[in-house]
Amino acid sequence: MEKQSLIICGKLFDGIKDELQENMEILVEGRKIKEVGKNLSRPKDVEIIDLSHLTVTPGMIDAHVHGNLMRWQEVDNILFHSEGYSTLAFLHTAERCLERGFTTIRCNGMGPLGYGIVDAKRVIDRGLFPAARMNVGAHMLGGPGMPGDMSMYAYENQPLSDFMQIDTIGSGPDFFRTQVRREVKYGTDFIKIFLSGSFLSPDGGPEISYLDDEELETIIRTAHDLGKPVTAHVYPPRMMKKLLQFGIDGMEHGALMDEETARMFEESDTYLVPTFSPFQDTLEDNDDMFAKNTADSQMKLKKFAPRLKESRRIIRESKIRLGYGSDFCAVHQPYESWYEYRSWLRSGMDPFRTLKAATSVNAGILRLDHLVGTIEPGKLADVSAWHRDLLTDCDALSECDFVMKEGKVYPTDNKIIDEEYV
Ligand SMILES: [Zn+2]
Repeated sequence: MEKQSLIICGKLFDGIKDELQENMEILVEGRKIKEVGKNLSRPKDVEIIDLSHLTVTPGMIDAHVHGNLMRWQEVDNILFHSEGYSTLAFLHTAERCLERGFTTIRCNGMGPLGYGIVDAKRVIDRGLFPAARMNVGAHMLGGPGMPGDMSMYAYENQPLSDFMQIDTIGSGPDFFRTQVRREVKYGTDFIKIFLSGSFLSPDGGPEISYLDDEELETIIRTAHDLGKPVTAHVYPPRMMKKLLQFGIDGMEHGALMDEETARMFEESDTYLVPTFSPFQDTLEDNDDMFAKNTADSQMKLKKFAPRLKESRRIIRESKIRLGYGSDFCAVHQPYESWYEYRSWLRSGMDPFRTLKAATSVNAGILRLDHLVGTIEPGKLADVSAWHRDLLTDCDALSECDFVMKEGKVYPTDNKIIDEEYV
């Protein structure tokens, strides 16, 4: 007989209903949820976990994490990290996420040069390291100079820059066909491409393109032939429209959204992970935080600020299938995954839409909805609990009180490591 525990919930958000249910209980048996309801019968020897003072939710999911740094300050010398160090950084990140109530993270294509990121995922999946489950896009695919091409930092020294460029950066359909097949062979869960430039990397800006139509079509078709989804880093509407026409599975950021593109999104099944956090300081005119960006990024953000604000409204008012992703470790790492909750609520997003994005919708995006994302019989017992009011408190996810992953309870830790950055 597997171990059984009964969780008594103060309130329960189950990932499905727009409601905080009262007097609910969850019976966990082994790794899975067995029953959910009121006044459940209590099996002999059941362990009682009393969370009657807390709001219980499914384990949270962050769908856009870059876990390759131990601390945000390291971003300046990222090129000098060994394969091993980067791999350990992913374990460290996944461990911190679990301690903070995020039981699953999707790592967005910034793995070490080799496939250490897949090793980190395997070690966690095999139960050998206590950390959030990882869903990985091993590397970023795109053209030379794209955001995420860290060799750009050495562009004034061509031999050095060429040496530093990762294998998945290149040109031509044949090149990308091979790279997609390699990524899948070595264990990637999805393919991450960089179509447009960006605000926060030393590239040509959010409106330029690093892949042509032939390359895009080849990448998407090859990944689909191998049964893997594709998501794209993208900003301008014309590029988002093109991706929708090519049948891409999802997009990241989309922060220059217009009405016409939003309508096209709504008619498709394509998701958007809008990563509000990196743009929050610009939208809120938070000058002190804004000043921490590089001079190049500040210039780009200022130029596009009105469109970024308009885009946020369009996304909020749309019915686009939105996932929750913080983009952390790339920008304001100390804020971590919870910070995205603040960004959503302060943007006027409905709290239940936000909570669903971070649970059931994200589970679908990760193709893990048969396992996680809701509190239902048969699902893995991934459960988090919070003492703050999830419906009114923007910072509610900053303090996690309880976390269970696959039926096992782990310690929580809410401390912020880099105080000076908050
Ligand atoms: Zn990112």
